[in-house]
Amino acid sequence: MKAVVLRGPGEIAIEDRPEPLVAEGSVLLKVDMIGLCGSDLNSYRGKNPMVSFPRIPGHEISATVVEGAAVAAGTQVTLSPYTSCGACAACRRGRPNACQNNQTLGVQRDGGLTEYLAVPPEKLYAANLSLKELCLVEPLTVGFHAVARGRVTGSDTVAIIGCGGVGLGAVAASGFRGARTIGIDVDDAKLEIARKAGATDLLNTTRDDLHTTLADLTGGLGPDVIIEAIGLPSTFRAAVEEVAFTGRVVYIGYAKEPVAYETRLFVQKELDILGSRNALPEDFREVIRMLEEGRFPVQDAVSRIFPMAEAPEALAAWSADPSKFSKIMIQVG
Ligand SMILES: [Zn+2]
Ligand SMILES: [Zn+2]
Repeated sequence: MKAVVLRGPGEIAIEDRPEPLVAEGSVLLKVDMIGLCGSDLNSYRGKNPMVSFPRIPGHEISATVVEGAAVAAGTQVTLSPYTSCGACAACRRGRPNACQNNQTLGVQRDGGLTEYLAVPPEKLYAANLSLKELCLVEPLTVGFHAVARGRVTGSDTVAIIGCGGVGLGAVAASGFRGARTIGIDVDDAKLEIARKAGATDLLNTTRDDLHTTLADLTGGLGPDVIIEAIGLPSTFRAAVEEVAFTGRVVYIGYAKEPVAYETRLFVQKELDILGSRNALPEDFREVIRMLEEGRFPVQDAVSRIFPMAEAPEALAAWSADPSKFSKIMIQVG
């Protein structure tokens, strides 16, 4: 079978690989479409410390079941690309999304940019969705999990800092729960998509002052929940500074450098400061429900679909100018 293989940083080729061996109880899938993620781009650029080469990238997967005892052949599915060890503290607490020994498809293990894939049935989610929508499920779950961590309800005002892929999922999740949802970004095009995904208010920090605007929108109280989805020290700090007293701060962004804080705010405001990583099965099911209700601007969120033979060109073009694309998908089958 054909597979797209990262041989090393910036080195990518289509190779012939043996079809996967289907272990007892596993399900054989024919891959239909793959969404490329920022982590695939980082792997391609040699900037993902978790990845080793050679590696088949891709973990946002739309596929059809070929054979497997647990699921009927022909079923359209997407899947959870993570593993969990069952033994670490996170797994023992029923939070396998934060498994200490997680291996993600396309990162520590070969991923989905190939014709066939064998996976355990518990990783699969069947849904009545288009191929594009199935590929969007996993990236959206990350924002949905953050909103679940923030215990967002319909009576909350939620501000999401960063409306890129991950932040957009948080916007959609917050809107889906009926919360007043403030999308914050520096890019009007991203904010417009955030509006279509469920943001009730938009804030462009190149024009609007963050503090004054959030204060205006919340009667001076600050948002009940702030979700940080960028990973900059300034936005890590802003989340703690702008959130309401007794509010919740959720971090999904990875800061690449240490962040200096006014820690007295943690105490004075009695904040819940929460990390959020990957997603749980209930997050997958909630995203699928939202997509099945047609509440997400799928056409706006996907910038281009390339055939598998052009996957190397697609990654090269994306790497040359990341701002030109939002989400790229690869048609495999
Ligand atoms: Zn991803
Ligand atoms: Zn574990």
